[in-house]
Formats: sequence, C-alpha cells, structure tokens
Amino acid sequence: MIDNRQEAGAIYHAPFMDLLYRAHTVHRAHFEPSTIQCSKLLSIKTGGCPEDCSYCSQSARYDSELSASKMMEVQRVLDEARKAKAAGATRYCMGAAWRSPKERDMPAVLAMVRGVKAMGLETCMTLGMLSDDQATKLQEAGLDYYNHNIDTSERYYSEVITSRTFADRLNTLDRVRAAGINVCSGGIVGMGETADDRIDMLRTLASLEEPPESVPINMLMPMKGTPMADMAPLDPIEMVRTIATARILMPRAYVRLSAGRSEMSDELQAMCFFAGANSIFVGDTLLTADNPGEDKDALLFNKLNLRAETAPVCPKPAQEQTREQAQEQAA
Ligand code: SF4
Repeated sequence: MIDNRQEAGAIYHAPFMDLLYRAHTVHRAHFEPSTIQCSKLLSIKTGGCPEDCSYCSQSARYDSELSASKMMEVQRVLDEARKAKAAGATRYCMGAAWRSPKERDMPAVLAMVRGVKAMGLETCMTLGMLSDDQATKLQEAGLDYYNHNIDTSERYYSEVITSRTFADRLNTLDRVRAAGINVCSGGIVGMGETADDRIDMLRTLASLEEPPESVPINMLMPMKGTPMADMAPLDPIEMVRTIATARILMPRAYVRLSAGRSEMSDELQAMCFFAGANSIFVGDTLLTADNPGEDKDALLFNKLNLRAETAPVCPKPAQEQTREQAQEQAA
C-alpha cells in the first residue's frame, strides 16, 4: 500500500514513459488488457438538485438552462435498461440529482434495482448521501455498486462544493461498504486543482479500508451557467498521469474513463486505456453531458482491437489473485 504523498507523488511525476510502462505492467497483471467493461448511465431524475457542486448543471443554484424533471417511471427505466443490454452494456447505472433519496422515492428506486438485476445486468445507483437503512435496502434489492465520488482532494474540496463536506462523502462510502455493496468512487480532474490535489484524491481512495472496486476519472466538461463554465482545459497528459497513478495505487479496481471522452481524441483515449483505464460509459449522453455514442466507440474499439467485457463481473474476480495466478489455478 502506497500511503504517503511523497511516494504517490513520485509515481505521478515519474518520467512519462516509466509511468506508462509501470501502470501498464500492473494493469496486465490483473486484467486482460484489451477488454473494456461497458456501463450505461441513465439519469432517472434530472436537475433541481439542492447541492452546489460547482461543475454541475443539475444544481438548482445555477442558471444552466437545464429544466428539472420528476423521477422517471419504473417501467421506462426498465425499457431503457433492456435497450442498453441489447447494445452490449453489462452494467446499468441510474443517477438521480438528489442530496439524498427521500423515503417516498425508495419503493420506486428499489423496484428499478430489482427489475434491472432480473435482466442479468449489474446494477449501480448514484443517489447522493445514504442512510444505513437505505444502503441496506438497496443491497437487499440487489444493488451491486453504489457510486459516490469524492470529486477531488480534501484540501480543494471546499473550492468545489460547500453544501456537504468531504467527511459526509466518506461516511456515505462507509455505509455503502458496510451494507455489502461494491463501492464506485472517483473524481473529476480539470477543476483548477493542482497535481497534488489529484494525487491526494487518489491516495484517499486507495487508502480506504477496502479501496473502491470501480474508480471513475472524469475530465471536467465545463457547463454553461455553472461557476466552472470558463475553466481552462487541463493538459491531457495530466489526465493520463491521473489514470496511470490510479491504476498503480488501485491495481484491482476497474478504472473508468468517464466524462470528457467526447472531447478526447482517439489517441488520447488509447493512451488512457494503455495507462490502465478499462471501463467506459457507452451511449451518447452521460446524465447531462455529451458522450461519444455507440458508433464512434465501435470504430474506436475496432481500431484498437478492444473488445467489450461480455459478462458482468460482480461479484468481482478473486481479490487476492493476479490474473495470471487465477489462470494458473484454472488450468
Ligand atoms: S453533482 Fe450530484 S449532488 Fe452535485 S449538484 Fe450535481 S446532481 Fe446535485
């Protein structure tokens, strides 16, 4: 376990070729390098959120011209999940723009989890902060993953969000873990943070009692009307360094190249995959942001000889084994 900033910083700032080589070696030890896990994300309740996340067009505090909607009907969510499965997704992620779910919303949310799970898809939800009871109910309904990003470092956090604390985020992750649900947690780069913030964000995740099974790394997509609308783009090489460091610090996690892919070249995405990213969102929208869409991804996969993971991996492969060890045992 690499738990001090100096050591993690030495990884992040290593000569780029050494960093890529190391990250890819770690990646190959734990995963088949040409296989990418594909998730589909659906916004089940868009906009009108009381939180003040500075990057988010769904916050009711900003004039982003996004109109708030009510929670989707369960049947519609299930219809969309069926389509996502037919298009090759193995995990279905449902997101709601809430501070936390209200009790009156839970029956419908649980019905969505049960319905999607019954289709043979992995289920994931992101609903804001959870109580112990809500986490337990979600687990009992068959929720495989709960997404709750820490977003950035503890130091930079208050520059991004003031309506809930970094500790609130970690408490929700604890509740999710205690309920027996896999943890999906990552952050956003390009919000004006420093390299040290990116390193600290990854260290926080890697030093959780059990690191997340899934680590989404998002590139900020500046949204009109939000405080980050005019943020200058991050040097893409920093994105690759972040992915590579995530792979080295959390060798067994699925590292997801999340928001921002629609602005990335094929070459940059290829470099991120080489650096250890092995999960993406498919489809042409992510909650409210653009995503490349299936046609573009099919072309990219074809060019890079990548294939989509065909079966859900939850429960995830043996945690204490490398891929080679698992293969030897199976032989
Ligand atoms: S990121 Fe989530 S919690 Fe924050 S404002 Fe947007 S929808 Fe609300």
